[in-house]
Amino acid sequence: MSMTWAKALFEPASVAVFGASAQQRKVGNVILANLTAPDARFKGQVIAVHPTAKAIDGVAAVRSITELDRTADLAVIATPPDTVVGILSDCAKSGIRAAIVVSGGFAEAGDGGRNLQQSVVKAAQANGIRLLGPNCFGVVNTSFCLNASIGIGMPCKGGISLFTQSGAYGMVAFARSEATRCGFAKIVSVGNKADIGEVDILEYLAGDDDTHVIAMLLESFSDGRRLFELARSVTRIKPVVVLKTGWGQAGQRAASSHTAALADNWRVAEAALRQSGVRVVFDGETLIDVAEALDRGGSVKGRRVAVVTNSGGVGVELTDLLERKGSHVPTLSQPTRNAIRPCLPALASDVNPIDVTTDWARFSEAYGTSTRLLSSSGEVDAILVVLVQRAAEKLDVVDRLIEEIRTARERGEHVPVFVCWLASASAEPSIRRLHEAGIPCFRGTGQVARVIAHCRSPHCEQERPWTVPSGRAEGGDSVKWLSMAVALDTAQDAGFPLARFSSSNNVAQAVESACRVGYPVVLKADRPGLVHKTEAQAVRVGIANEEALRATWADFDRRLGSGSAVIQEQVPAGVELAVGGYRDASFGPVILFGIGGVWIEVVRDFSLRLAPLNRDDADAMINDLRLRAVLDGVRGSGAIDRKALAELLVSVSTWFFESLWVEEFDFNPVIAGEQGLSVVDVRIRPRPN
Ligand code: ADP
Ligand code: MG
Repeated sequence: MSMTWAKALFEPASVAVFGASAQQRKVGNVILANLTAPDARFKGQVIAVHPTAKAIDGVAAVRSITELDRTADLAVIATPPDTVVGILSDCAKSGIRAAIVVSGGFAEAGDGGRNLQQSVVKAAQANGIRLLGPNCFGVVNTSFCLNASIGIGMPCKGGISLFTQSGAYGMVAFARSEATRCGFAKIVSVGNKADIGEVDILEYLAGDDDTHVIAMLLESFSDGRRLFELARSVTRIKPVVVLKTGWGQAGQRAASSHTAALADNWRVAEAALRQSGVRVVFDGETLIDVAEALDRGGSVKGRRVAVVTNSGGVGVELTDLLERKGSHVPTLSQPTRNAIRPCLPALASDVNPIDVTTDWARFSEAYGTSTRLLSSSGEVDAILVVLVQRAAEKLDVVDRLIEEIRTARERGEHVPVFVCWLASASAEPSIRRLHEAGIPCFRGTGQVARVIAHCRSPHCEQERPWTVPSGRAEGGDSVKWLSMAVALDTAQDAGFPLARFSSSNNVAQAVESACRVGYPVVLKADRPGLVHKTEAQAVRVGIANEEALRATWADFDRRLGSGSAVIQEQVPAGVELAVGGYRDASFGPVILFGIGGVWIEVVRDFSLRLAPLNRDDADAMINDLRLRAVLDGVRGSGAIDRKALAELLVSVSTWFFESLWVEEFDFNPVIAGEQGLSVVDVRIRPRPN
C-alpha cells in the first residue's frame, strides 16, 4: 500500500486512545471497549493514554504517548477540543502518522470551534499527520477486526465499503448488517472533513481488494473536479453509489450568461456524478439497499426483467414501476413459455409476469422451476420473485428458491434474482433464510423497482424529486463581455460553423457588407454593455434590401445611440439550440446543451456535463432532452444532423476546456436545419484578471 496514512488508519498494528476512560458514559470508554471487544478479535495492540491511571478496563495506560519506547500507528482522540493541538504534537514526536479526532466542538460549533479546527489542521500538517474528522464516528475495517468507532458492535464481513459524512450512517450499517447479514469491508466517517476527504478515501477504496461496492453519503464536495475524474476511472472497476444531501443549501451564483444562470449547483453535481458512472440515489435507505444488492451479485446487465408472482395485481403494479424506471417486462418466447407451462397451475399466466396463482400446494414447484428456466433462457437480465403472504410463509418455497439460485450460479449463469417481500411478521424465518443465503430481498414494490434500476446501469434514468428553483437574480452586466464582433471572430477562428457575418462601423460599410453576404440579411447593433439584444430591440431579421437596411440602421442610431453593427446572413428557419459553458468553482468547466433559443429560460430543457466531452457524453446529452424528438423532425420539417451536432458539442467542449481565458460563453442560438448547423449569436466573457 503506497499510502502510509491509509495503512496506519485501516491496518494499525497499534492504536493509542486519548481520552480513554473507565466511565461508561464517556466516548473514550466506548472506543476502548470496541477496540478490545473479545468478539471483535482485533490483533493489534491497544494503548490507553491517561494522566493518572496505570490501566483502564484491563488496558495498560501511559501518561503521555511520548513515554512509549515503540511508536503507535494510529491515534484515536476523544479529549476536549482545546487539548487536540497539544496531543497532535506529542503524536508527531512518537512517530504517529494518522489520527482520528472523534471529539466535537469544532467547526460545527460556531466561530470559536472553527478557529480551533483550523489550528488542529495546521498542527496535523506541520507534524505530517493525516487527520480523520474532527467530530466523526471513526473507522471500521472488518477484515482487520478493527473497530475504532463509537458504534455499537461490529458489522459482518463483506464487500460494501461505506464512506459517510454523517456518523449516523455508520450505525445504520451495523443495524443493517444485523438485520440482513449483508457485509461490510470498511466504514469511514469523516465528520467535519477538515483533512481527509472523499477523494482520499475513494482513491484508497478503489485499490482495496476487500471492497467490491463503494457507497458514499456526501453533504458537500471538497473538490468536485477531482472527485469526478477519479470516479470516472473507479466506476470502471467497481460500482460507486452516491447519496448527496443538502441540495437546498446550494449556493447561488451571480451570472449573466444563460449557461451559468441555468446551471444550478445541484444540476452540475448530479450531472457530473452521472457522467462519471456513479449511481446517484436520493435517500439513505436506497443507498444501502443498492450497495447490498450489488454486493450480493445483483449487477443487472440489461433492461429485461422477468417477474414471478403469486399475485396478479402486484405483478401488474411491478410491471408499471419497473417500466417507469427504464426496465422492460418482455413477453417470453413461445419455447420458454412451453417449457414453463407444465410447472404452473391450469389458470396461471406464463406470459411475464408469470402468475403462479393461489394454488399454494404447487408454489415450491412453480416458483422453483420457473426461476430455473428463466435463468437459463437468455431472455431476461434479472428475475424478480414476488412473495406475497403464503408464498413467503412456506419455508419449502424459499428453500427451493435458494437451491435453484445456488445451482444456477454453479452453472455459470449470472442472471440476478431479487425478492420483493410482502408478508407479515410470522414469515420472518423465511426472509432470514433468504438473507443468510445472500439473496437481495426488499420490502415494498416501489423500492425493489428502484433498486433494480440502480443495479442496472450507471447511466439509468434518475428520478428528480426536487423542483427546479425558478427566478434567479441576473448578475448584472457590469461584468465585461467581449463585443459581439470580437466574440464572433473568436468563434470563427476556433473553427465553429458561423453564419456568414461582417461588422460595420457606418451605414455605407453595412450596405457594402450586405451585398457581399447577400439579402435577406440580419442587422444586430453592437454597443458596449449590450448583452441581451432582443430585449433592447437591437436585432432585426428579414432585411430584404438596401432601403430597409438604411432605415434599420437609422432606427438603431436613434434608439441606442450611434455605434457599430454586425450584418449577418439570414439563416433559414430551423430548430434553435443553445450550447454554452461556464467554470464552476468546484467542478471546473461545465457544458450546457439545450433547446429553445430565446425561449431557453422558459422551456428549461437542457442537459449538463463536465468538459471535455467524448462522443458518448455528447450523444447522451442530446438524448437527455425532453424535446429530443423535435430534432428528428416534426410537422413536415426534416431531421437535423445529429452526428454533426454531437461533433460540435465535443469540439466546443474541448475548446472551452483548453481556453482557460474564457470564463463563460453562450452560443445561442445555434440554428439546426436539414442543411446543417449555423451559430448566429456568440457571447464570451473572459476571465477577469
Ligand atoms: P440576443 O440573444 O442577444 O437577443 P440573437 O443574435 O440571438 O440576439 O438574436 C435573437 C433571435 O433572432 C435568435 O434567437 C434568432 O431567432 C433570430 N436570429 C438572430 N440572428 C439570426 C440569423 N442570422 N438568421 C436567422 N435568425 C436569426
Ligand atoms: Mg442569442
